[in-house]
Amino acid sequence: MIQNKTDFAELHWLLDTLQSIDVGVVGIDRNRNIQVWNGFMASHSGMSPGTVIDRTIYELFPEQDLEWMRRTIDSVFLLGHKAYSSCEQRPFVFRFRSYRPITGTTDFMYQNASFIPISGTSGETSHIAIIIYDLTETVTNKQALESVNHQLTNISRTDGLTQLFNRAHWEERLNEEFQRFCRTDRVASLVIFDIDHFKKVNDTYGHQAGDEVIRETARVLMETARTTDICGSYGGEEFVAILIDTPVNNALIFAERMRSRIEALTVKYDDVEIKYTISLGVSELNRDTPTAHRWLEQSDQSLYLAKSSGRNCVKQFIEPVD
Ligand code: GH3
Ligand code: MG
Ligand code: MG
Repeated sequence: MIQNKTDFAELHWLLDTLQSIDVGVVGIDRNRNIQVWNGFMASHSGMSPGTVIDRTIYELFPEQDLEWMRRTIDSVFLLGHKAYSSCEQRPFVFRFRSYRPITGTTDFMYQNASFIPISGTSGETSHIAIIIYDLTETVTNKQALESVNHQLTNISRTDGLTQLFNRAHWEERLNEEFQRFCRTDRVASLVIFDIDHFKKVNDTYGHQAGDEVIRETARVLMETARTTDICGSYGGEEFVAILIDTPVNNALIFAERMRSRIEALTVKYDDVEIKYTISLGVSELNRDTPTAHRWLEQSDQSLYLAKSSGRNCVKQFIEPVD
């Protein structure tokens, strides 16, 4: 009750604050009728207090999740406990347009909300105050940060010339694949290949043409591999493909397909047409493979064998018999 002039001034000050603070305040009575609708709510909903007082949220905002709203309000009245809504689970309680200058990210206001029971003189909950916090800026900043982080992760994994995985990343994946094999016994194969007489391509047509040959080779590799395979650059004109769940016989089919596709390919650069071949080494990850490093060495040895066997061919690693 207002006792004197000081109390009245305080109440006036409180109401003023309530009207102008940058959070939404909605007060509802036990009949679910709105009794308080502050300036934030009025300006974001476009509905003045005069149009909403003594009406329910349910009739004013039929596009909301009314089932959830009813359940929450009923339980706060019944139990007298606070309830919360987080924008991570439920983006908003009242669908308001977002007026933030960050365009294109969201067209509604992200909101956190608290439902606070207010006790009457008898001690039971007579009203509920719903407080709405505008989280749009926080959420959109977080989304922008996540998107940049995602792009940075991609850049840090990617070889600039070929857009394949760079060595640091595919070596990490090779180690993971080895660990996975130790746990699950699921086979995988590693193919390494190198362009034949690539120095001649550079010397004859120039480095730019050489780069185009490398890019085209990467494109054929991506077309030939499955989406689950890990295709990487070993640097320069050397490439790897980690073929997941692939025994060596299937890896040999893949390698032969790569070999014949490159043999059939003509790379056009400016007005020259470049024909070239590749040599490939294949090894399977199996119980005889002691480490991921050894797996890599075995494919490398097979590639070396392919080179010394005349190039433009596929060789498989065979464990030497003691
Ligand atoms: P081989 O059949 O034995 O593989 O013969 P090769 O001439 O291809 O020899 P090697 O594999 O050692 O070739 C490496 C050459 O590739 C050396 C270098 O000039 C060239 N090279 C390496 N990286 C790049 C690159 O990013 N762009 C271009 N244009 N050339 C590169
Ligand atoms: Mg090489
Ligand atoms: Mg080469």
